[in-house]
Amino acid sequence: MNAFTEWGRHDRPATFSFYMTAHRCKSRPDLAWSAVNLADKLTIAGPKGPAAADRLRASGFDSPILFDGTGYDSRQDLPRPDVWVDRQRRAEAACHHLPGIFLPWDKDCSEAFVGVVQEQGRIAGDLGATMLLAIDARWIGKRTDVVVDTLRSADQAVALVLAHRADPLSVGGAVSGLRRIASQVEQLSVFRSDHGAIGALAYGADHASIGLTTTTRHFATAQMRPSRRPGTDSRIFVSTLFDWFLVSDIAGWTAAGSDVVCDLQCCDGRSLGRFIDPDLDANWHNMNALADVADYVLNAEVIDRRSLFIEECQNATLRYGLAGFKGPENPKPQLTEWVFS
Ligand SMILES: [Zn+2]
Repeated sequence: MNAFTEWGRHDRPATFSFYMTAHRCKSRPDLAWSAVNLADKLTIAGPKGPAAADRLRASGFDSPILFDGTGYDSRQDLPRPDVWVDRQRRAEAACHHLPGIFLPWDKDCSEAFVGVVQEQGRIAGDLGATMLLAIDARWIGKRTDVVVDTLRSADQAVALVLAHRADPLSVGGAVSGLRRIASQVEQLSVFRSDHGAIGALAYGADHASIGLTTTTRHFATAQMRPSRRPGTDSRIFVSTLFDWFLVSDIAGWTAAGSDVVCDLQCCDGRSLGRFIDPDLDANWHNMNALADVADYVLNAEVIDRRSLFIEECQNATLRYGLAGFKGPENPKPQLTEWVFS
């Protein structure tokens, strides 16, 4: 934890965590430890989350842990809500979430959506737990009113996971929808997200849980046919461009004469193109770069957070397509939406 994080913590009730699968916590416990050096909490995903937490606890890990059971994924098998909540309680979760349910898009009717949220709200109320809803991103983008009204009337803490085949916040209207939801729905968390969740924090969400791999930055059902690139080309978060890029692309910019460096403690001014070396692990850089943005927003006064976040996005968009810069010419839709929506 850096000094800046420490002094800011007293007046920052909103928090962020890194989002890791139970499998990853088991195979790379060092990453879980790194995560809580930089973030407030650790979110562990999957039905085996409590077992992974027990292993970490046994090695002295005493930071707050949240669980995303991923029950919204039909490929996962979770116990009944009361049993799952009890498992989280035994694993000393910071707060307890329902197993999770998926809300598919329906362009004609919102009755099923409303009914499911109401039912989840009742179960959450009975168990003293937080709802966990994976929502097709079109609800956020095209039916924001329905989402806001339904969540407000359920009157329960809620964690949202946005579902899309690639980037949920690239859906038309999704960024402005998320802004409205974050500012109008109380006790909101955004789980399994990319850096867009920091925007939700800036607009009033209580918690953002950020993934470090492509599959932990959003949810995709099997029907959504998520795109998977072959190979092991890692993605790097580039703070100055406020987005993720393939390391092969970054190395290409370097080769063309546009080196991208990171000035944070993780890299100390070195080139991000160096991660093309498969022996180098980019996770520490990615965590530092994301934590730096989250801290920048959360250490500000609540009233200033929105403008600071949008200013970061604006500054980033200005760096695209600069004369002489051999990097990307245009920002991706999400970044443009944050600036112009
Ligand atoms: Zn770095």
